[in-house]
Amino acid sequence: MQKSEALFTRAQKTIPGGVNSPVRAFKAVGGTPRFITKADGAYMWDADGKQYIDYIQSWGPMVLGHNNAQIREAVIEASYNGLSFGAPTEAEVIMAELVSELVPSMEMVRMVNSGTEATMSAIRLARGYTSRNKIVKFEGCYHGHADSLLVKAGSGALTLGVPSSPGVPANVAEHTLTVEYNNLDSVKEIFEAHGDDIACIIVEPVAGNMNCIPPVEGFLEGLRAICDQYGSVLIFDEVMTGFRVSRGGAQERYNIKPDLTCLGKVIGGGMPVGCFGGRRDIITHIAPTGPIYQAGTLSGNPVAMAAGLAALTQIKQPGLYDSIFENTQTLVDGFQALADKHNISLTTNIAGSMFGIFFTDVEKVTNYKQAINCNTEQFNKFYHGMLEQGVYLAPASYEAGFVSKAHDAAVIEQTLAAADKVFSTL
Ligand code: PLP
Repeated sequence: MQKSEALFTRAQKTIPGGVNSPVRAFKAVGGTPRFITKADGAYMWDADGKQYIDYIQSWGPMVLGHNNAQIREAVIEASYNGLSFGAPTEAEVIMAELVSELVPSMEMVRMVNSGTEATMSAIRLARGYTSRNKIVKFEGCYHGHADSLLVKAGSGALTLGVPSSPGVPANVAEHTLTVEYNNLDSVKEIFEAHGDDIACIIVEPVAGNMNCIPPVEGFLEGLRAICDQYGSVLIFDEVMTGFRVSRGGAQERYNIKPDLTCLGKVIGGGMPVGCFGGRRDIITHIAPTGPIYQAGTLSGNPVAMAAGLAALTQIKQPGLYDSIFENTQTLVDGFQALADKHNISLTTNIAGSMFGIFFTDVEKVTNYKQAINCNTEQFNKFYHGMLEQGVYLAPASYEAGFVSKAHDAAVIEQTLAAADKVFSTL
């Protein structure tokens, strides 16, 4: 760990907290973040040469595994023609066509550079399209760091938005209404009170930022019905779930058609890419066809598009997800069986290649309150034990885990052998 420690000390002198995104700093679990030098398939290596099986997968994007040869070659090839033009390219057209084909509710698509940009832009579009101000989001759902979305509920489920980050003006936050995930009654109540001024509901159709919490039966259907009743726009934030919980995202898995969809992570194959899109009659309200402004110097960047196209072309192949889902199930079942063997209270959630493990007595975790009431002390011990054994899990108990194509049966077996050892020490 010497090199990671030295780099972390040095980093903190010129980078706030030593990291460019807060969770990387290991604050939740304590200890020194590992500085990574390379990654390949299911594995990563740190600056001290230690190898890890990686279940973060760059926080979701690497569904094909790290350093995928086709993506790498596509990036190298594209870079020979120049890195950015600020003018349209054929790759952007092919990308939009491919996204529409894989996610049919996205009749038209606008590329951006991150998930945050996608959700921020989709919300502006929903507000401009409906001429309404308020948005509904769910407690514990994360949609990037735009001001209106950095709001959580206060104590009550129906509280008007309170800024939960300094720097978000109260008069921006007050337009964000926060309700309980998987609780349709709380959504109905907020619509009864404010329905005429609610532009949209934005939801992670499988919540992946309060650990992994799939929708309960009827939840997404209910959101669809409420939006239809009140003329509000239903936005699925599939930045995490897109091309991950199913080829066509959560909307395909649960068979619900949102009005707008936000994508990120997998769509860039590891490069900074996001997009939003959906109903043609809504999205044509953005510039230049409509008055709602949205733009980007590097949007549709040719090298990023080459990476994304190489990723999606592989994702399009039939059967890709079968083994990934099967291996994820084996992993999760294995964690459960081992925890039971060692008398540890644990429950799991799974959606395709996303999973969550919760140190709790609760039988099934379905909402934010249950997720945050888990035994974080036990998780932190488990986390550090696994890290020591060479298994790299997300350094916080509120994050989902990700399995890739490269996590084969042998990798899963190796992970479970490590978990067996670590559970025995808890
Ligand atoms: N939406 C969801 C569901 C996410 O999980 C994330 C990031 O983790 C974002 C949006 C923001 O994406 P980005 O970090 O690319 O801005």
